[in-house]
Amino acid sequence: MLACEALIGNFKDPTNITVEPLQSLPVIKDLTVDMDSFYQKYEIVKPFLINKKPAPVKERIQSPEEFSLIDESTKCIQCASCTTSCPSNWKNPYFLGPAALLKAYRYSFDTRDEGLDERMKILDTNDGVWRCHTIFNCVEACPKDINLTWHISQIKKKLVSREY
Ligand code: SF4
Repeated sequence: MLACEALIGNFKDPTNITVEPLQSLPVIKDLTVDMDSFYQKYEIVKPFLINKKPAPVKERIQSPEEFSLIDESTKCIQCASCTTSCPSNWKNPYFLGPAALLKAYRYSFDTRDEGLDERMKILDTNDGVWRCHTIFNCVEACPKDINLTWHISQIKKKLVSREY
């Protein structure tokens, strides 16, 4: 869990608490870790809207029903708790990890986005979505209660069904 969200009063034994830097990222000093590799994984999945149509005067409109498809995935605060608690990520630092896969979902399932095909090619690899073994550590670690495993499973379903 994130120290900034933990209430001492909720611990059974407040005298036995370990505060440590995020696992699996290089420690710079004390609790400070080098987040470069975490953000590089974001870059790989193209974390932005891909739409080659000319931009409308105001904005690209989306209905509440369309937004509900991606609502939960937009709540990520990029804290890295999920990716750094993932055993698949500990084993293989090249694995994109749950946070980047969630970001890939956020844009690929956005009804205004046209980048599904190019993102699916990136995700359909050994270091992509198939490295997730549904361990659920990410879900347990997420301070925003995002069900990462469900989102990752939607990407897997999309790949298996070739609906892109
Ligand atoms: S999905 Fe949750 S745990 Fe992962 S980076 Fe976002 S807020 Fe943090």
